[in-house]
Amino acid sequence: MHKAFLLLICLPLLNACVLNRNFSEEHIAYLDSYKPIDKFDETSSKNSSSLKITYFGVSTLLFDDGENQILVDGFFTRPSLEKLFTFGVELDEYHREQIEAVIDEYNMADLLAVIAVHSHHDHAMDAPLIADITGADLVGSDSTCKLALGLQTVQRKCYEIFNKRILRKIPLQYGNFTIKLIQTAHTKLPSIVASALGVNKPISGDFHYPARLWDYAEGESYSIHITHPSGSIVVHANSALGPRELEKIEADWLFMSVARLASLPNSQEIFDSVAKVTSAKNIVPIHWDDFSRQTHKNLSPQKLFLGDSIEEIELLMQLNTQLDVPADTYILDFGDHVWMTNKNK
Ligand SMILES: [Zn+2]
Repeated sequence: MHKAFLLLICLPLLNACVLNRNFSEEHIAYLDSYKPIDKFDETSSKNSSSLKITYFGVSTLLFDDGENQILVDGFFTRPSLEKLFTFGVELDEYHREQIEAVIDEYNMADLLAVIAVHSHHDHAMDAPLIADITGADLVGSDSTCKLALGLQTVQRKCYEIFNKRILRKIPLQYGNFTIKLIQTAHTKLPSIVASALGVNKPISGDFHYPARLWDYAEGESYSIHITHPSGSIVVHANSALGPRELEKIEADWLFMSVARLASLPNSQEIFDSVAKVTSAKNIVPIHWDDFSRQTHKNLSPQKLFLGDSIEEIELLMQLNTQLDVPADTYILDFGDHVWMTNKNK
């Protein structure tokens, strides 16, 4: 406990003085130049086959067709690294209240499912509580189901969906949303980091709370394909080669991870295996922000040594311009949204 206290004092200092970065004015202007201003105004909602897609940092995305809602990841509480390294997190009242506030603010009363792309904390940590609060299904690997420890109904349904549908590759149907989880690789990390974060490993049988950063092993990772009367969407939240199944899919909207993209030698292949094969019409980079900082509006750049958000986004934009038909590209900040509309309806 003595060491934990020491870490609790040292890490905020290290964060504030060395690791945390802010976007320069020039960077903010660059990000703003890709904001979907005016193009997606509220009149889109009058079209019955329109889908509103809202971004909340990392790979948290809310899909709302006016009747039903689907949430990817739902990582809202964004605990600090000092908390994750020392005392860990609980499924407690504090986190419940934080999550309830976002659910209320963004009107997620019609949530049917919260789907975790894998069980690392920056994706799956809040998903069990979201499912518990809203009554939505928790969807993910069996490691993700383990995180719902103590939430019996949520956990039972989660295992049922995993065993009966995900393992058998049967699509999930929620209202007008058809959802396929396609197994994919995790972003390549330096081996020491990958081992500490349990990349390629399931969460061990004795998972318990309070949980620390290293307790959230990856489990299985999924790319998510969502089809809806308004179009086809791919969420690829790992900067890794796309699974072969993407070759059979066309994406009206692609939400693609750029985490570490500029540090990976095969960034071109990764881009081609996700954006090119799906002939993506619109691309939104995701997973470029510092997930250990609280935010209500503006996302922060990644910490020093963890990557350069602008460089990673710029690389994606540059790879896109090399396509025969480049996609339209947008950058969303916390709470920003776009509309997907089926023009044939
Ligand atoms: Zn991860």
